[in-house]
Amino acid sequence: MWSIIACLSTGLGILACRLWWRRRYVESERRLAEFKQAASIYREEQESESLRREAHLQALINSMIEGFLLVNSEGRIQAVNDSLLRLFNIKHELIGKTLMEGFRLRELPELNERVAREIRVRGVEIELLGLDHRTIEVNASAILNEAKQQQGAIFTFHDTTRLKNLENTRREFVANVSHELRTPLTLIKGFVETLLDGAKNDPVVATRFLQTIDKHTDRLTFLIDDLLTISKLESAQIVLNPVPIDIFSAVERAFDDLQTKAAERQTTLINSVDKQFRCWVDGDRIQQVLFNLVENAIKYGRVDGKVRVVAKLGRDQFLDISVNDDGPGIPAESKERVFERFYRIDRARSRDQGGTGLGLSIVKHIVQSHGGEVWVESNLGQGSSFHFTAPLVNNVSAVGNQN
Ligand code: ADP
Repeated sequence: MWSIIACLSTGLGILACRLWWRRRYVESERRLAEFKQAASIYREEQESESLRREAHLQALINSMIEGFLLVNSEGRIQAVNDSLLRLFNIKHELIGKTLMEGFRLRELPELNERVAREIRVRGVEIELLGLDHRTIEVNASAILNEAKQQQGAIFTFHDTTRLKNLENTRREFVANVSHELRTPLTLIKGFVETLLDGAKNDPVVATRFLQTIDKHTDRLTFLIDDLLTISKLESAQIVLNPVPIDIFSAVERAFDDLQTKAAERQTTLINSVDKQFRCWVDGDRIQQVLFNLVENAIKYGRVDGKVRVVAKLGRDQFLDISVNDDGPGIPAESKERVFERFYRIDRARSRDQGGTGLGLSIVKHIVQSHGGEVWVESNLGQGSSFHFTAPLVNNVSAVGNQN
C-alpha cells in the first residue's frame, strides 16, 4: 500500500515538474516571439526613419539653386541634385561613375585631388564651351572622419555667366564713356592752347576755333544728358506715367523741335499718322522716342531728302509706328547692333552730326518698358524704316479698322 502511494506521489511529482517546465517553455517561447516582433518593428522603424532622412536630404539638396555633388574616397559619384544635372545639361546616370566618366571635364578630377591636399578649395572657375558658353564657379570641401581621414568630398556649382557678362558690359561701358568724354575734351584743350599760343590774334581763325570748341562742348552736353537718361532708365528712377496720347500730335511736336535741323539739311518732314490713333504711353518718354528716331532720320538721311512717319495697326492691340528715310540704309550685320550702346556704323559721321551713340539704346529701353518692340527694316542704298510698337488705347483698334 505504501509503495503504491510512493509510486503515485513520484508520478504526480514528475507530472507537476513536466507541467511546470512546459509552462516555462511556452512562456519563454512567447517572450521570444514578442522580442522578435519588437525587434522587427524597431528594425522597420529604423529603416523607414533612415529612408525618411534620405528623402529629406535629397529634397534639401534638390531645393538648392547651386549644383551639388558628393563623391566617395575613391572619387566615385554618390549623390547629385537636379540643379547640377540642369547646369551641365546631363541626361545620363552619374551615380557610381568617376568624375571624368560623368562630366568629361579634366578640371573636376584635378579639383578632387586638390581637395585631398588642401581640404577646402574655393572659387575655381570652369568654362563650359559649347553653344551657350557658360562660366561655372565651383567650391569643394573634403569630408573627414573623426580620425581626420578623408571619406569623400562635396562640390557646389554656381552659374556665374550672367554676373560675368554684366561685369564685362559694365567694364566696356565705363571704357566707352571715358573714351567718349576724353575725345571732345582733348580737342577743346588743343584748340584753346592754339588760341592762347597766338591764334586768338587772328579774328578769322579765332572765330573758326571757337565755333569748333562750341560744337564739342555741345557734344559733351548731349553725351552727359544721354548718360543721365540711361542711368535713370536703368535704375528705374523714372516711373512711367501712361496716359492716352494722340500719336499724330506727338509726331508734330517732334517735327517742331527738329525744324532747324531739318532745314539745315533741306529735309522734308511728312506726318502720315492717322489722327485717330491714340496710345496708352508716358507722353514725355514717347516724345523722346519719336525725337531720337526722327533726328536720326534727318542726320543719316539724304540731304534734300524726305522723312515720313507712318502708323498702322500691329499685333495684339499695339500700334506699329515707323520712321522712314531715304538715306544710305543699314547693312544687314548692323541691324541688331545699332540698338547697342555706343555702336555706330560710321563713327566719324555720327560724331560729326553730334551723335552720342546712345540714342537708339534709349529708344529700345523706353519702348520695351511699355511692353513694345523695336526693329529696323532696311536695304542698303534704299533708306531705313525704324519701327516701334506701343499699346493702343482700348477701342482704338476698332476705330483704326474702320479706316
Ligand atoms: P548716334 O548718336 O550715333 O546717332 P544712335 O544710337 O542714335 O547713335 O544710332 C546708332 C547708329 O545707328 C548711328 O551711329 C548710325 O550709324 C546708325 N543709324 C541710326 N539711325 C540711322 C538711320 N536712320 N540711317 C542710317 N543709319 C542710322
